[in-house]
This record gives sequence, structure tokens and C-alpha cells, in this order.
Amino acid sequence: MKKLSRRSFSGIAAKGILGTTLLTNMPLAKAFTAKPINKKLGIALVGLGSYSEHQLAPSLLETEHCYLAGIVTGTKEKEGIWKEKYNLSKKNIYNYDNFDTIAKNDAIDVVYVVLPNSMHAEFCIRAAKAGKHVICEKPMAVSVKECDAIINACKENNVKLGVGYRMQSDPYTNEVKKYVKEKTFGDVLFVSSDAGYISNGNPDQWRLNKALSGGGALMNMGVYAIQTSIYGTGQNPISVSAQEFSTRPDYFKDTDETITAQFKFANGAVAHMMTSHNANGNRLKCHCSKGWFELDPAHSYGPISGRTSNGNTIEFPFKKQQALQMDDFAKHVLLGSKNIAPGEMGKRDMIIVEAIYKSIAEGGKEQTLSLGDLGIVS
Ligand code: NAD
Repeated sequence: MKKLSRRSFSGIAAKGILGTTLLTNMPLAKAFTAKPINKKLGIALVGLGSYSEHQLAPSLLETEHCYLAGIVTGTKEKEGIWKEKYNLSKKNIYNYDNFDTIAKNDAIDVVYVVLPNSMHAEFCIRAAKAGKHVICEKPMAVSVKECDAIINACKENNVKLGVGYRMQSDPYTNEVKKYVKEKTFGDVLFVSSDAGYISNGNPDQWRLNKALSGGGALMNMGVYAIQTSIYGTGQNPISVSAQEFSTRPDYFKDTDETITAQFKFANGAVAHMMTSHNANGNRLKCHCSKGWFELDPAHSYGPISGRTSNGNTIEFPFKKQQALQMDDFAKHVLLGSKNIAPGEMGKRDMIIVEAIYKSIAEGGKEQTLSLGDLGIVS
């Protein structure tokens, strides 16, 4: 009989070959005698805006290891609508004021914060203090300092922390990571990526208000281009220089419209990114010593699409990224499997965001980054 490595055992368990039973994270020898956990984690969404309504809640109907158990909302009318639509128990419905009493509710295992960026830190810290595992939407916060406060609160309260980086659970991202790691097309020499859309909506929306968003395109879509630059090369950058462009100052009064940035990597690779609230962009292309590969679209909700220089297309069956992401986090909590998007990854990206804004403020001056392997999960 083929011997199972610890890794292949977790893989089998995670794929459900052991049935729907999940086992706690413990030495392999003990795992076969361990008491099984027949449990799906109960998730409470905090903030019932567009992303919760149209992506996360529908995805929670498809997840295997977690489900929508509760809500936290500041809008009274949404309580009844969501209660009926998702068959929620009245005791699992909270508002921003009574949210902390969620500590006493055993039906809620995970709090998922889906509020404007400047509110992430407060609600993640309150969730951690209530003893709940935390998923924090991207960008993790509006400063590195806030990221540290969230990470520390989760550590101090012994709860797990994940960032809502859905692309980290997407099979296309993992295919790109595999090409980079296995040098399928040789060494990656240059990465080009962009992430943006044209914003024409309400000029008073929170995304255009720096106090609530922390910044414009860079905070919103820019984190995707930062992420693709990193998984497109398989490394953290050692420096960044950046430029900002403004063509509609009347609309983008308070936040950045378009930003370009260039990264250098320790092995000599270079990356260029563009992010915008005034131009569409949804692409990753890796130019290598023996060919190239690209995703276009690279980070929309899917389906993603990819091609390589050997004439192949990159194709995977479609599954909601958010369902994959929340199941990955649930498996991390239940099984102790890898945390695919830990708080350190969100913090790393915020260090880069701050360096980009600093470079712009200093007229494009190159900023040194000392990230080591922070946030790299392989
Ligand atoms: P949204 O504007 O649609 O919803 C925001 C929610 O926050 C609403 O329910 C609103 O009532 C509530 N809220 C509470 N206080 C508020 C205030 N002072 N101002 C404005 N709204 C307030 O936003 P969204 O698109 O759902 O984004 C929410 C979070 O999710 C953001 O951090 C965003 O970056 C993130 N997001 C992530 C993805 C992704 O693909 N991972 C996609 C969209 C949004």
C-alpha cells in the first residue's frame, strides 16, 4: 500500500475522501483515532453592501465547510429582508452597537468584515475580542499600523485571521504560481499587470472619500496589481517607484485616479503595474526567458481566462472564487490547513501601498522595501 505523507493525508481529508468529516490539526498518528468534527462554521457578515449581497451571501450557499449564520448591519430594514431570504435565526442578527454581545453566541464562529476600508480595523478588533475568527476584506486596513493592530488582536485572543483575497483561492492563480515555481517558461524576467475600472458613479461614495477609503484606485483595485506582481514573480519586491496621473480632478477631488508603479526584485526581475478609477484594466502577463503566460481577465469574479506562448489556453471549471476562499479559511480553522491569505499578506500589501504613496509624494523617488518573505505563502 502506498504510504500517505502528512501532506497527502491532509489533501485527502480536505477533499472529503474521508467523507464530510473534518479532523482537528494534530499529529498524523493520532488523527485516525481523533474524534471527528461534523461541523460547518457559522459565518456572520458585517456590512450588507454590494459585495455581501451579490457575492458573499450567494457564495455561502455553495460552500461545503461554512454557511451564512448571521448578519451585522447598521440598516434596520435589511434585518427582516436578510432574515427571510437566508432563513436566519433572530438571535444571530446584530447591529453595530450590540455587535460585541456576539461573544456569547456559539452559532457564530467567524466574523467577516465587509465595511468601508477605514472601518475594518475597528470591527476586526471587536470581533477578535469577542473570540471569533476573523476574515477582513481587502484592503486589510488604511495603514500598516492598523494592520498590526488587527494581527495583534487576533493573536492575543487566539483566533485565526484571513484577508478576503479571493484570487489566492482561484485555480488560475495557483497555475501561475506553479509556472513560476517550476520555471515552466524559464525565469520570469518582466511582469506587467493592471487593475482598474472607470468610475462614473455618485461622487459622494465612500470609495472617493479618503477618510473612509484610505485612498483611491490604489487602495481599491491596486492591491490586485500588487498581488499579481508578487505571485507573477514568486517573490516580494525589494524596491518600488511610482507616479500618479490626474485627468478628472473635479470628480477625483480627494483620492487618486491613476497610479503606475515599478518594482525591482532581488533576482533582477522587474514588474510594472497600473491601477485606475479612470481606465479599465484586468490583466497579468509574465514575460519569461523561454516564453510567456498571461491571464486576461486576471482578477474579475470569473471566469478567468489564460494563455501561454506554447499555444495552450489555461482553463479550469468555474466555481465562485468567494466560495473557494471561504472554504479554504474554514479548512484552515477546522483542519489546521494552510492559511492561504493570512493577515501578514494584507500587512505586506499595505507596506507596499504606503511606499507607493511615499514615492509619489517624493516625485517618483525609489523606495527600498525590506519585506523578506512576509506574506508569501507557498
Ligand atoms: P458598499 O458601499 O456596497 O457597502 C458598504 C456597506 O457598509 C453598506 O452596507 C453600508 O451601509 C455600510 N456602511 C457602514 N458605515 C458606512 C459609512 N460610513 N459609509 C458608507 N457605508 C457604510 O461597499 P462594498 O462594495 O460592499 O465594499 C465593502 C468592502 O468590501 C470594502 O472594503 C471593499 O474593498 C471590499 N470589496 C472586496 C471585493 C473583493 O473582490 N474582494 C469586492 C468588492 C468590495
